Amino acid sequence: MHSTAADGNSHAYFDYICVVDFEATCEENNPPDYLHEIIEFPIVLIDTRTLEIVDSFQEYVKPVVNPELSEFCVKLTGITQKMVDEAKTFNQVLKRAVSWLQEKELGTKYKYTFLTDGSWDMGKFLHTQCKLSQIRFPQFARKWINIRKSYGNFYKVARTQTKLICMLENLGMQYDGRPHCGLDDSRNIARIAIHMLQDGCQLRVNECMHSGEPRSVPISAPIEGALAPQMPKKRD
Ligand code: AMP
Ligand code: MG
Repeated sequence: MHSTAADGNSHAYFDYICVVDFEATCEENNPPDYLHEIIEFPIVLIDTRTLEIVDSFQEYVKPVVNPELSEFCVKLTGITQKMVDEAKTFNQVLKRAVSWLQEKELGTKYKYTFLTDGSWDMGKFLHTQCKLSQIRFPQFARKWINIRKSYGNFYKVARTQTKLICMLENLGMQYDGRPHCGLDDSRNIARIAIHMLQDGCQLRVNECMHSGEPRSVPISAPIEGALAPQMPKKRD
């Protein structure tokens, strides 16, 4: 599956990067303790050698605590009540995502990592969802690349300039698709990551979960790919 071409970006640390951008239930002004439930689970797969998007995964997810989407959430994400009513529960969708990653031999034959736009995807949405779904946080998703941080450090811009649209525009690109559709967001984040790899940035893991919170990974930390994906155990 992986290209053996000697050209392209042969200095990348990982064979593949999985871009994930969850969409979640929300209200217009979410209170700080609002329980976001994941309603869209997309993955976009980047081959770091060919610098192309080579595959994608997308499933909607049925929310359980707040099964009715707010009007605001439908407008924001484009995800309708029917789409989530017909969707599987989070644990069923996570199982499918794990199988999809396993079929690609990620973490076994190939080195890979996750990449997100900010620290909320893993640090908030996935963490909260795993608690609600009574499963442990997946070991394979414990570390990731926060592209906002990588972008800010590499191009030497302030964090105020690392919003998705802003990063695209500064690289001379426009958002392609529908903002806040998880799959389209993931594709656009992937375009930024590819541009950065082309510009010579060696995207490194820079965040991890620690005691249930996202935390920075020091630059001196050894470079390791994500663990082979496995369905997490039930919480005790
Ligand atoms: P995003 O990746 O920017 O599409 O956002 C991910 C999730 O964050 C959305 O599915 C919402 O649950 C929440 N969110 C994003 N923007 C807003 C907003 N302006 N107001 C409330 N929730 C939001
Ligand atoms: Mg999004």
